[in-house]
Amino acid sequence: MDITATLINLYHVCKRELWLHANNIRFEHTSDLVYDGKLIHENSYPQRPERYEELEIDGCKIDFYDARNKIIHEIKRSDKVERAHQWQVKYYIFVLEQNGIDGVTGLLEYPTLRHTEHVNLSDEDRKKIEEIKTEIVKIIHSDDCPPVINARICKSCSYYEFCYVEEEG
Ligand code: SF4
Repeated sequence: MDITATLINLYHVCKRELWLHANNIRFEHTSDLVYDGKLIHENSYPQRPERYEELEIDGCKIDFYDARNKIIHEIKRSDKVERAHQWQVKYYIFVLEQNGIDGVTGLLEYPTLRHTEHVNLSDEDRKKIEEIKTEIVKIIHSDDCPPVINARICKSCSYYEFCYVEEEG
């Protein structure tokens, strides 16, 4: 299975969610990850689709790429899993670099929180991404589904019922 930005994100959110998603156990209708930015951008930035491009490249689907300024705009609803968002954007930058597009930076935007954050890719991050990719392959090919994490974010996860009803049952 190819590594995608979604897997990089999920690796930082929850290893169990990563495993379930990668093994095609899906409850898409309530998945907040997929719809997160898309729902918000229409209300927050109605002009944006005309100015920025949508870019699909090596497992990354970047909704808003400002090619002139080489800035990736990633819009999220909540910063509860901010670290996962940061690594998702770092991975976008990494993939663009691998495809010969250098000097790209990212901007994480939380319009409902009125908060933005710059994202850059350091040499250390490049090494870390290679390690994360190896870890992801190991996790998703394991026969065992990782344990539940009992975190606050579980309540808004599309696997919530699956995880906890199964556990209790
Ligand atoms: S409900 Fe919690 S433990 Fe289960 S997949 Fe989602 S985040 Fe992970």
